[in-house]
Amino acid sequence: MIDSNTQLYCVFGNPVRHSKSPAIHNAGFQHHHINAVYLAFEIDEISKGVAALKSLNIQGASITIPFKESIMDYLDWIDDDAIMIGAVNTIKNKNGKLFGYNTDHQAAIAPLKPFGIKDKKVCLIGAGGAAQAVAYGIHKEKGNLVIINRDKVRGEKLALKYDADFIPLNEIDKSGVIKADIIINTTSIGMYPDIENIAFPIQYIESHMVIMDIIYNPLKTKLLSEAKIKGCTTIDGLSMFLHQGGAQFKLWTGITPDIKWMRQALINGDT
Ligand code: NAP
Repeated sequence: MIDSNTQLYCVFGNPVRHSKSPAIHNAGFQHHHINAVYLAFEIDEISKGVAALKSLNIQGASITIPFKESIMDYLDWIDDDAIMIGAVNTIKNKNGKLFGYNTDHQAAIAPLKPFGIKDKKVCLIGAGGAAQAVAYGIHKEKGNLVIINRDKVRGEKLALKYDADFIPLNEIDKSGVIKADIIINTTSIGMYPDIENIAFPIQYIESHMVIMDIIYNPLKTKLLSEAKIKGCTTIDGLSMFLHQGGAQFKLWTGITPDIKWMRQALINGDT
């Protein structure tokens, strides 16, 4: 029940109306009987979000595109992982002091951990914002990264940061067989409305591989459908999304939510 003691949490982004974060966090608050509500705020400048956090005593916030980097200038403390990644996606307000975290890297590796990451060859397609956190997570788990990206400069920069090999996206065919154990698509290739496109050539996908796509619109991308047909283990984009939200929920409330339950709540629309 919302009353005069209800605590406020939110997401700041632009655009933000498509966000599924209110659905998972509000379902979590209800499920755990926490008197709190989570709203989405579309803002034009992050400084306005920071002012709101302080003046309205907003307890915590998710930060999404395009503010994950610019928010860092306004925080009182930032954890080491977020500094390494160069982006903050979570804020905790402790008595007016703002603490910044990044839960994306843990979220990216959580669904991969059961298959093992250490010493595995991990092909990461993309070098954009999401790829920064995914690459950091894989590197931290001692996976052997190969970065594949369309833009050479961006791809090489990310590869250099983690001592990884780099292959330009349009030169995969020339690079010979990539004996990957895990392939992760972090590009928007395959995202609605581009649903017939695929980020990695089907002919190089083999049944022993784990194929992960972080796109969640649609949930079953062409990459995942084709990989499934080949007999691969597949991981959809909702897995990373739910784990980053779950880690935020834990930072704010101290409670580790059940990811399977969160997925069901999102699919059922139970909020
Ligand atoms: P971003 O910073 O704009 O990066 C986009 C990446 O996709 C870049 O590597 C870009 O390559 C590549 N790309 C885009 N269009 C391409 C094309 N036509 N051909 C080849 N490469 C192309 O975006 P982002 O924030 O990283 O997000 C990327 C995707 O991840 C989006 O679909 C987003 O919804 C999803 N995402 C999911 C989660 C989750 O929790 N599941 C979290 C964050 C993001 P260049 O460098 O060559 O431009």
